[in-house]
Amino acid sequence: MRVLKFGGTSVGTAERIKEVANLIHDNQQKIVVLSAMAGTTNSLVEITTQLYEKNHDGANEIITSLEAKYEKEVDELFSSEDYKTRGHELIKSHFEFIRSFTIDMFTVFEEKAILAQGELISTALFHFYLQEQGKQSALLPALDFMRIDKNNEPDSEHIQTHLKRCIEEQGDHATYITQGYICRNAFGEIDNLQRGGSDYSASLIGAAIGADEIQIWTDIDGMHNNDPRYVENTQSLSELSFDEAAELAYFGAKILHPTSVLPAKLANIPVRLLNTMEPKAAGTLISSKQHKERMAAVAAKDGITAIKIKSGRMLLAYGFLRKVFEIFESYKTPIDMITTSEVGVSVTIDDNSHLDEIVNDLKKYGTVEVDHDQVIVCVVGDLVADNKGYANTIFDAVKDIPIRMISYGGSNYNLSLLISANDKKKALNLLSDKLFN
Ligand code: ASP
Ligand code: MG
Repeated sequence: MRVLKFGGTSVGTAERIKEVANLIHDNQQKIVVLSAMAGTTNSLVEITTQLYEKNHDGANEIITSLEAKYEKEVDELFSSEDYKTRGHELIKSHFEFIRSFTIDMFTVFEEKAILAQGELISTALFHFYLQEQGKQSALLPALDFMRIDKNNEPDSEHIQTHLKRCIEEQGDHATYITQGYICRNAFGEIDNLQRGGSDYSASLIGAAIGADEIQIWTDIDGMHNNDPRYVENTQSLSELSFDEAAELAYFGAKILHPTSVLPAKLANIPVRLLNTMEPKAAGTLISSKQHKERMAAVAAKDGITAIKIKSGRMLLAYGFLRKVFEIFESYKTPIDMITTSEVGVSVTIDDNSHLDEIVNDLKKYGTVEVDHDQVIVCVVGDLVADNKGYANTIFDAVKDIPIRMISYGGSNYNLSLLISANDKKKALNLLSDKLFN
């Protein structure tokens, strides 16, 4: 069995939904995982923001315009009166549910329930559409098997047992359809896998059923060897290892959610990135195969802040780093990059919400310097220590760009440089010229 995930733009209009239905039509058994139609989750988030602010008129306005958009798509999607009526009834019931929160109390529980509506609607519409076309399919409610534990980590055992049960209950079908993103938490309440989490759902489902392949369908032809927004003539990568893909996904390749590589990697299930606009193109195959002695790609992560702590007390001392890290931990702020010397340590963060408090606390241990508007540029490839000369090639490429931090050796697949945001485009192009052209 294969798992096929389609993102928000792939099911963004009635037209696109029809294309997806065509695309999945073959004789192989599959689970189709869908996101909400593009823009829906953003609108649902806005609705919940209004409701937290007790602005019921504001919420109602967004609800009404979102509902109108769905009414239009339903009319375009279905051709028979029977299915048009079913579609409209479906939309009506979901929006009545969303509206019910404008008169009731509003807490995080209701928020999660509202956020789940997008995927519930897209999958139900898709299911109806296949039925109308005379194609057989079954819905597997993600809320019946997808679950996270008390630490918000997926509960693999629960997912596996209950997904199997759901499939058995539905009997044999060519196509099963389920929702991405949504799940239940340790208390059985409706929850989600965080924004963009449908890729994660697909990977978890693939791992749970031991799928032959997990396909992530988007509107780009796979992962590229550099960022096409800043560099001309980037190329789509035909193959990547799980480790390389994880680094790239984290460092800005928007095509794949970073968390989604791990379940597939652990279960050793290949992930294929494919393009709905060009279904015949090969895309990118992510697997355990590591290309030797190859620089695969360059990526950049924006919005980075660097913090340097200098202290005489670090010299020959132990426990200094722990104290520094504890400060970041106490503000739940993850550290991305780190470099050390005997008299100081530099770290980077991409979440500035507690920057002032963090800096204040760090001052207990030394002098603190902060640099804003930094970018991590990372080169991903076979960078194992045995390979000679790669660092030299990389540094030669960027020899005219000031470098604030260097990180190498953290994994075998990544060399990262911290530079000013102003130099980002230049660095990406220089690296592309040197490494790929
Ligand atoms: N619909 C959710 C979002 O927009 C999940 C996803 O699309 O992956 O974040
Ligand atoms: Mg998405």
